[in-house]
Amino acid sequence: MTWRIVALVAVVVAAVGAMVVAVPLAVEVVGGRGLAVLEDVPGPESGPECPVDSRYVDEEPDGLRQDVLAAWRELRAAAERDGVLACVNDGKRSNAQQQREFDEAVEKFGTEELAAGYVLPPGKSNHVKGFAVDVQPWSAAEWVAEHGQAHGWCRRYDNEYWHFEYDPDYRTGCPEMLPDATS
Ligand SMILES: [Zn+2]
Repeated sequence: MTWRIVALVAVVVAAVGAMVVAVPLAVEVVGGRGLAVLEDVPGPESGPECPVDSRYVDEEPDGLRQDVLAAWRELRAAAERDGVLACVNDGKRSNAQQQREFDEAVEKFGTEELAAGYVLPPGKSNHVKGFAVDVQPWSAAEWVAEHGQAHGWCRRYDNEYWHFEYDPDYRTGCPEMLPDATS
């Protein structure tokens, strides 16, 4: 009888062992980050200087939604073929990064209401949702405003010439521009 108990214990140990191993593996499958919520995925805090205009940076487009990243690469390559370098002055932000920017704006402008005119609270920013990119310098943003729609990129706000959003449906036409991001 003893060998049966030993065998049973061995099976149980093996099964528990497999479960313990299976848990970290399941997390690995999700891009190795263990962050399933897109809103919590951060983007770079900054990046190297934009080669065509030192007032701006050219961040890696890390953290964008996968289809948005592919569409961004397509857009940037198209711009390059026209001799235009579209720098990513800002792309993905996490909720925490957006909150920090908002808190800084509240400090600068005095109230949350005034701050919201310049920086959106985390729940409302499409940078947090991973489908917005701020393009600089102005000449590159102008190129995207003119040619981006064919690649699914549209300018959305009158007061932000640099801010573009991706939606596959935009390939058939851009929505009407809004006065600003708070409207
Ligand atoms: Zn923006």
